[in-house]
Amino acid sequence: MKFRSQPLAEEIRILAPAKINLFLHVTGRRPDGYHELYSLMCPVTLFDTLVLRVQKRGIQLTCHHPGIPSDETNLAWRAAACFLDNLKTREGVHISIEKRIPVAAGLGGGSSDAAAVLNALNRHYGRPFSSGELMEMGLSLGADVPFFILGRPAIAEGVGERLTICEGLRRFFLVLAAFPFGVSTADVYKNLNLGLTNCKKANTSFALENGQDFDILRYLCNDLETVTIRRFPEIEATKTALMNHGSVGALMSGSGPTVFGLFETAGKRDSAMHLLSTSTKWTLYAAELLVQTKG
Ligand code: ATP
Repeated sequence: MKFRSQPLAEEIRILAPAKINLFLHVTGRRPDGYHELYSLMCPVTLFDTLVLRVQKRGIQLTCHHPGIPSDETNLAWRAAACFLDNLKTREGVHISIEKRIPVAAGLGGGSSDAAAVLNALNRHYGRPFSSGELMEMGLSLGADVPFFILGRPAIAEGVGERLTICEGLRRFFLVLAAFPFGVSTADVYKNLNLGLTNCKKANTSFALENGQDFDILRYLCNDLETVTIRRFPEIEATKTALMNHGSVGALMSGSGPTVFGLFETAGKRDSAMHLLSTSTKWTLYAAELLVQTKG
């Protein structure tokens, strides 16, 4: 493998965004136990900051968040190990993570950190891997990693590896309501009863294919709510609170528990934030959808 070596001391600073699922249909369960999805994922403007410093040997990681391992089980560490192995270099990297994305919250923080490391190292070494190869490495780390490597709103299918860029999403402003507890994605899938899910994939895919007037507000739906809300009814109450404060749509993201509310203007979002921030039930984050805007 030929790659361009860069000065070792260079510091690479990257922002790793969170994601939300604007819809998430679970379309089936494979014989190997994995679930098949049909989900519209969108990056949002809530970021972890990673600083990478390529070094002569070994991987090290610093992260002061109590819920996150700082060893070889951290997804960012695993991403670096995977990349450097594939590159067949003995060089290493020091990674420091400033965590802002709530952990085990359905916002994809770990996967985003992993994708940020893969993208940044690939740039640093002069792009030795195609984006397809990088996504394959990403998929070996987690189902959402390929989406973050792409870094744009996309429909994810399969276990999350088949991605189609979704153009023309409207820019919405967001309140993200995070809770002081996390949920395990694996547990949520284990407790999912496919007979109880009610999202209609056929309707959504038809609307997307026929495109221009696609109104996401009509299709907000998350099959995993059936599991997580049963355990944490405050999720439903939070959706209601957001809707009562000017949100035009509210949903749980991923396997939860984070709930997002969509707002048409930053002003309406900020007033809702102001009124809802008196409660200690949640921590609120102001953000917006990271969509490509024209012009
Ligand atoms: P999932 O991708 O499982 O749906 P999530 O978005 O709900 O994840 P994450 O914040 O990615 O949740 O964390 C899931 C688990 O991964 C946590 O138990 C956490 O300790 C572990 N983890 C490992 N590395 C990281 C990382 N860099 N950032 C966040 N969590 C990490």
